[in-house]
Amino acid sequence: LKKFDIQKIRADFPILKREVNGKPLVYLDNGATTQKPKTVIDAITNYYSDMNSNVHRGVHYLSQISTDAFEVTRRKVQEFINAREDAEVIITKGTTDSINLVAACYGKAFIHAGDEIIISAMEHHSNIVPWQMLCEEKGAVLRVIPMNNYGELDMDAYKSLLSEKTKLVSVTYVSNSLGTINPVKEIIKLAHAKNVPVLLDAAQAVQHIAIDVQDLDVDFLAFSGHKMYAPTGVGVLYGKRELLDSMPPYQGGGDMIKDVTFEKTTYNELPFKFEAGTPNIEAGICLAVAIDYINDLGIENIRAYEDELLDYATSKIKEIAGVKIIGEAAKKSSVLSFVVDGVHPYDIGVILDKLGIAVRTGHHCAQPVMDLFNISGTVRASLAVYNTKEDIDNFIAGLTRALKMLL
Ligand code: PMP
Repeated sequence: LKKFDIQKIRADFPILKREVNGKPLVYLDNGATTQKPKTVIDAITNYYSDMNSNVHRGVHYLSQISTDAFEVTRRKVQEFINAREDAEVIITKGTTDSINLVAACYGKAFIHAGDEIIISAMEHHSNIVPWQMLCEEKGAVLRVIPMNNYGELDMDAYKSLLSEKTKLVSVTYVSNSLGTINPVKEIIKLAHAKNVPVLLDAAQAVQHIAIDVQDLDVDFLAFSGHKMYAPTGVGVLYGKRELLDSMPPYQGGGDMIKDVTFEKTTYNELPFKFEAGTPNIEAGICLAVAIDYINDLGIENIRAYEDELLDYATSKIKEIAGVKIIGEAAKKSSVLSFVVDGVHPYDIGVILDKLGIAVRTGHHCAQPVMDLFNISGTVRASLAVYNTKEDIDNFIAGLTRALKMLL
């Protein structure tokens, strides 16, 4: 394994040099969004100072270079997730947008009254609510795979939920509130045995775990740029061509059409059929730069490093009396969620913030998960490649101090 030069990696992220409340920043809210490397920040400036122009429509020079740069991203994403062709990569606004696209378009074509859609008990709200809305509209039924006290899906229950009525399975690859890595290959295999397509919410996976959509044989994959070192406002929906071709368009507007008359409009080919209107061009272009950054480090190296860090943080936090880890699955990635008896997570978050330590507190847009564990929320520390053992030590020291004040 290539050893990371962690100080060199940290130097790539300008924000890590700043102080918060007079203390060096310890950023452990990467599940919410990651910081950006200088290459990405420079690419934003470069876009506006050197090539700003609309894409896919101009004959002039600037429009061509911005279109080319935007399309480089599509091919970069294709390689990154090993899609068969770049037309299977739809550029969206983010995971939420990608899932809503599938709910709207797949839902319109294929979901009818009495059909069933399966999600899991650990989904982010963005992989619950679009399906609820669809079910309400169509008279379909939402089924939920339960999980055990460790935060692992009950695969036997899943098997018994799959039936002739099931029309789609939509589950998260990695839980944002617990860190659980789900057995997605098995989930997909079992669904395919019943001819049911599967959508994976990879918002918390793609920056930590190598993803090969062909090897997984997954039908749809959704993720956000901003959680993988790219700017906000850009994301991806991967879909198998035969499925995307069989779905109606998402929004109507420019770019998604071939011909428009007042009588009839014909729609564009993939991927443009699903990309109405001017996209977030600068963020789209920068996603390629973020993927380069990940590729240069190596996603397998990133995973190994982050796993080591998570193990370290987990063992350290277990030494603190009264801390209860929420989510102790055998396979986890980059998330340490916990509660402390008699202390509100928010109070811990506020004190840590005073010490320059950024964590997330609350329900993490996964309220049903909190309900299952009978808690209102957790404190969540979530990791990225630039975090260090020193960050963890500072966090543990801060937490110890906070608990002395609060208990
Ligand atoms: N799914 C998961 C598992 C997430 O963690 C998030 C972001 N917290 C989302 C979906 C939604 O992503 P976005 O807000 O970027 O659309």
